[in-house]
Amino acid sequence: MSVAVTALSEKTQYYLDLESKYGAHNYHPLPVVLSKGSGVFLWDVDGNRYYDFLSGYSAVNQGHCHPKIIQALIEQAQDLTLTSRAFHNNLLGEYEQYITRLFGYDKVLPMNTGVEGGETAIKLARRWAYVKKGVAENKARIIFAENNFWGRTLAAISSSTDPSSYHQFGPFMPGFDLVPYNDLPALEKALQHPDVAAFMVEPIQGEAGVVVPDEGYLSSVRELCTKYNVLFIADEIQTGLARTGKMLACDHENVRPDILILGKALSGGVLPVSAVLADDFIMNNIHPGEHGSTYGGNPLACKVAMAALQVLEEEKLAERAEEMGVLLRMELAKLDSPYIGTIRGKGLLNAIVIKHSNPAAAWQLCLLLKDAGLLAKPTHGDKIRFAPPLIITKEQLLEAIEIIGSCLKQL
Ligand code: PLP
Repeated sequence: MSVAVTALSEKTQYYLDLESKYGAHNYHPLPVVLSKGSGVFLWDVDGNRYYDFLSGYSAVNQGHCHPKIIQALIEQAQDLTLTSRAFHNNLLGEYEQYITRLFGYDKVLPMNTGVEGGETAIKLARRWAYVKKGVAENKARIIFAENNFWGRTLAAISSSTDPSSYHQFGPFMPGFDLVPYNDLPALEKALQHPDVAAFMVEPIQGEAGVVVPDEGYLSSVRELCTKYNVLFIADEIQTGLARTGKMLACDHENVRPDILILGKALSGGVLPVSAVLADDFIMNNIHPGEHGSTYGGNPLACKVAMAALQVLEEEKLAERAEEMGVLLRMELAKLDSPYIGTIRGKGLLNAIVIKHSNPAAAWQLCLLLKDAGLLAKPTHGDKIRFAPPLIITKEQLLEAIEIIGSCLKQL
């Protein structure tokens, strides 16, 4: 199968060639070159407009270039951007108070990218295991779920079950164990090992293709972790911050993890800002000189993160994600396409699984969608995530679904 896709413009080709010649080939992007974003829309270098149905992998929950977040960025950039943690700054404490009160934890440890948040959470858990749980030095174990994704550092790929993540990058981090996702008996068995410090898990597996666990999974994870004196680390970098219809995906089951990792939409797609939240019995085991980052907690990030969180609350984006998510899944089902095998998701974190004899069908569909004015990206071959900014209106969503419907017919 080969679908009729529009030829690339000269301008587009120019930028693609530049990246191809001078940049490492560690991504396979759709052939579109973007130069502007506003709200739910992106524009390419030729002025074509697109619905953004990826949202920077859920970093742009608040919409592109949200005026309130951009204003915070500009104002703060004129005053002070970076002090390092060698000195105090006048925004860090305010931000720390704001975010810990919002999520109900004693303390926060600010970092930049999501994967640094994950690394930080694991260091906190290992330290807690040595200081509080009494695990012998260098024996602490961390359990992960199969098909997890939390980034690209050596520790992150050491827990990966995806060969394209880890192949030929070894040797790997010791002390990591895997259990199947959504499998409570396997988890309970693994938690019984006395050296286990933590279970780190995504409440919905994002990169794996929006895999939603059974109802009750998260609350049982909480119970089991408590029972075996193991820390529950929730990686809410993709699921958190209103994306799934609640402020946190864990909120759907009223579950409170011991360590909460946030990133992505914490800056509304403006800066790399991540945060690790925990109570004193975990956080106070880290002392000066034992962890940090030059940019972590910089005043620009603090100001932007507060604005980004305020937008989520002021615009009630969790409620909107819930409402629009129900509509999205319902309207996708109504398309009744033979090429949609599965529709799944929560709030505005959704995916379809393409059912087609051609293994490249999902990629072809994304090319068709691009030509029709909607940007989405396949993951793991046959899955396409539909995760627009949470500010999307009903009219916009219905128009986007019309685009999806007409492209499915062209497959
Ligand atoms: N954790 C989850 C659940 C993610 O989806 C991602 C990125 O997609 C990360 C961690 C890593 O975040 P970053 O790319 O900012 O390092």
